[in-house]
Amino acid sequence: MRESHSTIESDLADRIARVREAIAAAAVLGGRRPDDVTLVAVSKTVDAERVAVAAHQGLAYFGENRVQETAEKLDRLGRYLDPAERARLSWDLIGHLQTNKARVAARLFSRIQSVDSVRLAEVMSRLGAEAGRPVPVLLEVNVGGESSKSGFAPAEVPSSFPTIAALPGLNVRGLMTVAPIAATPDDARPYFRMLRELRDRLVREYEGVVLPELSMGMTGDYPVAIEEGATIVRVGRAIFGERPA
Ligand SMILES: *Cc1c(COP(=O)(O)O)cnc(C)c1O
Repeated sequence: MRESHSTIESDLADRIARVREAIAAAAVLGGRRPDDVTLVAVSKTVDAERVAVAAHQGLAYFGENRVQETAEKLDRLGRYLDPAERARLSWDLIGHLQTNKARVAARLFSRIQSVDSVRLAEVMSRLGAEAGRPVPVLLEVNVGGESSKSGFAPAEVPSSFPTIAALPGLNVRGLMTVAPIAATPDDARPYFRMLRELRDRLVREYEGVVLPELSMGMTGDYPVAIEEGATIVRVGRAIFGERPA
């Protein structure tokens, strides 16, 4: 039997409320204001109808990891949201981007969180310069040094940073990471701290650089990430439930 629309609605409303409460509590623990943390709802594999319900519940930032899936979803969202509601939503790319899809990505997404190479940064910068609007990006850092993950190696960031920061069509807003899978959320804490310290170091070393955003923390570990300074958390399963395997 298909879940009724109102069941989907009340279920999502409960889950979103719980996540917001956990964000607020962690922000207070970290000595920050709940409003300083942006919740990006990770809607990969979630269909347009449920995304629309989440948007009606007040979520405004959505994260996706595939360009094609996002293009199709945005198309279908037109059935459930009027143009003003759709215009209120922002889309973050959080997955690896192939340079041959960069042009479409620059059109669909308001921010690319997963810039993971100098080459991709250069391609995005050309697109931003062409459009006359620098592309907001985060640099993805592979804090755990895992071969399964993309991102700059932590040691590589300080040396690559000046080249990237000088690109005219980019607006580098901060750093992003996916911490290694941990047995307990606390095990991820050193990785979040590493990202924050890396950001602090860049700001110290390069005069005039502002990197306000730290995108870190997912369903398993976002409260710890907030305690360590996250300004953006990317939460999927805690909002939408388990994804299909
Ligand atoms: C899937 C994904 C998330 C969300 O993960 P959950 O465990 O569902 O919260 C966050 N960030 C990235 C980069 C992802 O790919």
